Amino acid sequence: MFECKDVAEEASNYLDGDLPLAKRLGLLLHLVYCSCCRRYMQQIRQTISTVAILRPQEQHQTDTQALAEKLRTISKTES
Ligand SMILES: [Zn+2]
Repeated sequence: MFECKDVAEEASNYLDGDLPLAKRLGLLLHLVYCSCCRRYMQQIRQTISTVAILRPQEQHQTDTQALAEKLRTISKTES
């Protein structure tokens, strides 16, 4: 089963489309009953799309990973 920490770990893979189907389903299932992680995913999505708009080509991968790391730290502090 997916826990909040797993969502934090896999969020960037999920958004990159790199997550296997089984994991993707587990993550989605977790989002159904965990509003914290729903908010978390929303935040990442928004930030990523903002970054993508501002810098479409430049080091997208690196930005996403650094971002996920940052958000992971934030979510740890909150819980
Ligand atoms: Zn959660």
